[in-house]
Amino acid sequence: MASAGKVRRWAAKKGAETPAAGVSTPLTEEQKEEKQQQQKQQGGALEQQVVAPPKLSAGQVVLARSGVKSLASTAFASGVRLAYTQRYAEEIARVQQLLPPGSRWVDSHCHFESILGRTWRGGGKPQVMEGEEILDLEGLVRSWPEGLDGCISNFVFKRLSKPGARLSEWGWIEEHLPQFSASSPVGSKIWFTIGLHPHDAGNWDAAAEQKVRKLAQHPKCVGIGECGFDFFKHSEEEAEKQEQAFRAQAQLAVELGKALVIHARQAESLCLKVLSDLVPESHPIHLHCFSDSLSHALLMCQRWPNLRIGFTGSVTFTPKLAKGKGKGKGKGGSQDSEPVVDRIEELLLGVPLERLLLETDGPYMAPEPFRGQTAHPGLVHRVAEKIAQVKGIPLAQVMEATRMSTRVVYGI
Ligand SMILES: [Zn+2]
Ligand SMILES: [Zn+2]
Repeated sequence: MASAGKVRRWAAKKGAETPAAGVSTPLTEEQKEEKQQQQKQQGGALEQQVVAPPKLSAGQVVLARSGVKSLASTAFASGVRLAYTQRYAEEIARVQQLLPPGSRWVDSHCHFESILGRTWRGGGKPQVMEGEEILDLEGLVRSWPEGLDGCISNFVFKRLSKPGARLSEWGWIEEHLPQFSASSPVGSKIWFTIGLHPHDAGNWDAAAEQKVRKLAQHPKCVGIGECGFDFFKHSEEEAEKQEQAFRAQAQLAVELGKALVIHARQAESLCLKVLSDLVPESHPIHLHCFSDSLSHALLMCQRWPNLRIGFTGSVTFTPKLAKGKGKGKGKGGSQDSEPVVDRIEELLLGVPLERLLLETDGPYMAPEPFRGQTAHPGLVHRVAEKIAQVKGIPLAQVMEATRMSTRVVYGI
């Protein structure tokens, strides 16, 4: 891929070859008339486009709304999308063949607003967007494998996912609540959680708490969070406001009797302290996208019998060194200079099957061989396949155990 520097140098060179703006040779009368004729024709073509706009697919509508410029020609993009659709259909057929007919599973953690609006990584993934079949919520649910019982979408950002976006995650859930009702065609396959992510902890205040309380009353709301600590992307100066927001949400989860969804990175001791202070032993907890140490995972499992640990598509990635990533230094966290995947395999082997949850955290971390694409619940079986492979057990057993754990934590 060309570096930004190279692109800038190329653009500067190209500019130097182009005549300077505003400098032109005077035209003869004949040339002027020809030019006027051309402009008239072009204007006519434009008017025609305005009068009869081409019919847009759902994907093109999302693209147009997102303001991301198309990079490829329409014909090329539709060819790539067709290949994407065929590949996904083959994937669904493949996984259904691997499992007995009654096998069921759930994606216990994803983010609908970013999956459907393609706002992930600030909306800066136009190549992905063009190469994928972009669906609305009903289309997405229809595309899932028959054995997928559904998913739990988290709504945890008061701020926008990308500058200029129309809706935040909080705005999205308020607008789409009718689709979560029992009478909606997709209502039986979707649930949600409400809270404030540590990346957005600065927005926690009395009004935010009221909003969370209000949305938590909805019958499809099964959890509070994800909330917690993140010192991988944030410095420790932000610890205080993250802790304040986390404590308030942990208390709320206990008060309302909802599962507590935790996002904790490089914050083992702090996380343990808050839970020990506020959360009774019997409370259901989801430690999502776990990446801390095995000893911490086992300690948490021992202290909270209804705690489960979620793993995402990142467990399928090939080994790489995590050294030097992230701005924060970690607070009581684990070392991260060893190969990530070796640590992940250690975790998958060490945490008992009965304590695991499947999740995508879509749109992020699409499992191999779909890495780089927008992750969604219809790909979560790849996480189960990795667990089955590492533990040396049948895939159906992983589905059964994780399906049961989703019931334990979320009651669904
Ligand atoms: Zn998270
Ligand atoms: Zn998440």
